[in-house]
Amino acid sequence: MRIRVANAIRQTGELFSFEAAELFAEQEFGERTIAFSEPVSVSGTYVYDGKGFTVSGKAKCAVHTVCARCTKPIVDHLDVSFSERFVKGEGASLDDETYPYTGDELLLDKAVMDNLFLELPIASICREDCQGLCPVCGADRNATTCNCTIQEA
Ligand SMILES: [Zn+2]
Ligand SMILES: [Zn+2]
Repeated sequence: MRIRVANAIRQTGELFSFEAAELFAEQEFGERTIAFSEPVSVSGTYVYDGKGFTVSGKAKCAVHTVCARCTKPIVDHLDVSFSERFVKGEGASLDDETYPYTGDELLLDKAVMDNLFLELPIASICREDCQGLCPVCGADRNATTCNCTIQEA
């Protein structure tokens, strides 16, 4: 996902808007593999201040996951606002707070992923009242009632 920013480089301080959408390949995130079920869409603004770019906007996506209670496959919708800084790649003293760019294009992938994955729930459930699996026999208690005796702790 790239935005072309030659216009902003010529007009320092001027705010430009952009929209982009792209279906990303699976991403590794910690122990998890994140698979997207629809394109990631981003819209926002970018401005050049003579030293670098500030890109602000909203990113939306949907990822495949499973219900933490009943293990049914579900889709999680993520929606984040972000504001990130991009500085020219070569020579710049880079720290964790900025993303590098080269030429007159900003590659947004990493910044967008970083922001989306921060919002990723540790555990998602298919619905608020999901009954989950029986801890004794493993039956899906949304679909069937088993006769197991569950000892309350
Ligand atoms: Zn469930
Ligand atoms: Zn059971």
